Amino acid sequence: MGFKEFLRHIFLIDLIKGLKLTFSYQRPSATYTEQYPLERPPVAERYRGAPRLNNNPETGETLCIACNLCSLACPENLIVVGWERTEDRKKKLTTFTYDLSRCMFCGLCEDACPVDALELTQDFELAHYNRQGMIWDRQMLEEGPQPVRYTR
Ligand code: SF4
Ligand code: SF4
Repeated sequence: MGFKEFLRHIFLIDLIKGLKLTFSYQRPSATYTEQYPLERPPVAERYRGAPRLNNNPETGETLCIACNLCSLACPENLIVVGWERTEDRKKKLTTFTYDLSRCMFCGLCEDACPVDALELTQDFELAHYNRQGMIWDRQMLEEGPQPVRYTR
C-alpha cells in the first residue's frame, strides 16, 4: 500500500465521498414522493399488466376463437381454454382460466393470439389477499380488475 493510499484509509476519504453523494440526494428539492393512490402514476406505453380477453365492441361477442395457441405458447402452462363444438362444427369458447400468480408477463400468449383477443393491459393493481383470487375466470378477464379509485 502506497503512502497516498494509506492516507486515504486513515482519513476515510472514500467513506466521506460516498456520504457526500448520499446526502446530495437528501435535499428536499431533490426528493419526489408519488401520491399514489390519490394520483395514479403514468404507466409506460409498452407495460404488460393485467390480462384482458377482448370482446367485439359492436356485438359484445368474444373475439376468442378457442384455438388454444395462447395456452401452448405459455411457458408456465397457466392458461386453460375450454371449448365445445357448435352444430356447424366450429369451436366455441366456454371457459378461460388464467392463473395470474404464476404469470411472468412475458407476453408470449398475447403474441401468439391470431385475433388479438388476449391482451396484456396497462392495469397494474393486481394484488389479492389469497392465491385463489389470482386465478381469473373468463368473466374476470373480460371485465378486467375494478380497483378502488381514490380522489383527492
Ligand atoms: S404473459 Fe407469459 S407467463 Fe403470462 S400467461 Fe402469457 S405467456 Fe404465460
Ligand atoms: S390464442 Fe387468442 S383466440 Fe386462441 S384461445 Fe388464446 S385468446 Fe383465444
